[in-house]
Amino acid sequence: MTLIIDCHGHHTVAPKKHLAYREAQVARLDNPSLPLPTRPDITDDEIREGIEANQLKLIRERGADLTIFSPRASRMEPHVGDEDTAIKWSYACNNLIARVVELYPETFTGVCMLPQTPRTDMSASIAELRRCVEEMDFIGCNLNPDPSGGHWTAPPLTDRFWYPFYEAMCELDVPAMIHVSGSCNPAFHATGSYYIAADTNAFMQFIEGNLFKDFPELRFIIPHGGGAVPYHWGRYRGLADMLDQPALDGHVMQNVYFDTCVYHQPGIDLLFKVIDKKNILFGSEMVGAVRGIDPQTGQYFDDTKRYVDALGLSDEDRHAIFEGNARRVYPRLDAQLKRRGL
Ligand SMILES: [Zn+2]
Repeated sequence: MTLIIDCHGHHTVAPKKHLAYREAQVARLDNPSLPLPTRPDITDDEIREGIEANQLKLIRERGADLTIFSPRASRMEPHVGDEDTAIKWSYACNNLIARVVELYPETFTGVCMLPQTPRTDMSASIAELRRCVEEMDFIGCNLNPDPSGGHWTAPPLTDRFWYPFYEAMCELDVPAMIHVSGSCNPAFHATGSYYIAADTNAFMQFIEGNLFKDFPELRFIIPHGGGAVPYHWGRYRGLADMLDQPALDGHVMQNVYFDTCVYHQPGIDLLFKVIDKKNILFGSEMVGAVRGIDPQTGQYFDDTKRYVDALGLSDEDRHAIFEGNARRVYPRLDAQLKRRGL
């Protein structure tokens, strides 16, 4: 039996009270005389309402068993407010993920956002990662390589700035998905250009640096099919060679994984042709970036299982893509499933 594990789901339809809390938080940044907002009491039914009409409905229709679930990426907004704003917002968003997991323990498992801001180090993010993993049994995190929201003020991911956070990730044995948030730079469309640019950027930073020599156990998922990387695989292999770096399979691909959030069949065909199957995790990013129906196929763009099914993979490869690779990359997920007898 193979479990269908979707490594990339976001809580895009959150309860109104949660969104109102954020609005009050942001309003107070403009007008500090407003009262400090308190985190709302959200009922189980209010959480169920959004999940059942959206994620759960689609998961049932499309046949996934378990979704690795994190707060809505475009609303992480690390560039809004200061560190205190970011800490409180992360706390609220991550607690809501924990509530969803508590209500649907067989269907969701938690991944946290981090209280990053453009001006601070990773101390608060380390504390929040520890809280989410140790107290709420989360299995990973979303790490934002550009907390400035599109101005690229942070050092590359290979810089020592990030090392204390990587040490915590290794100690807790959790991977990170590289994931930017909304764009506050009008030159970047968030999901169409900023996300894909950030994915591609991260990969090139890993080629240029030697991060995985220092952290051989560190694991990253680069979402959205690895950005532009698979399509330009020859360019990146060639650049590694030109830069006197080792070949990519030893240098980067022991530590980096791509998901299948590529919203058409030729893109998935290319991903599987170019990238080793041990480095691909099934993901859909639903309900999220592209919600419509493809007029060419009559199917939802983000129904990515359909494209993977159409590849006609061997049983062994299918098992790796849908279950095995995710259990390897997320050891805490593997432990959770074992506790459930799976
Ligand atoms: Zn995402």
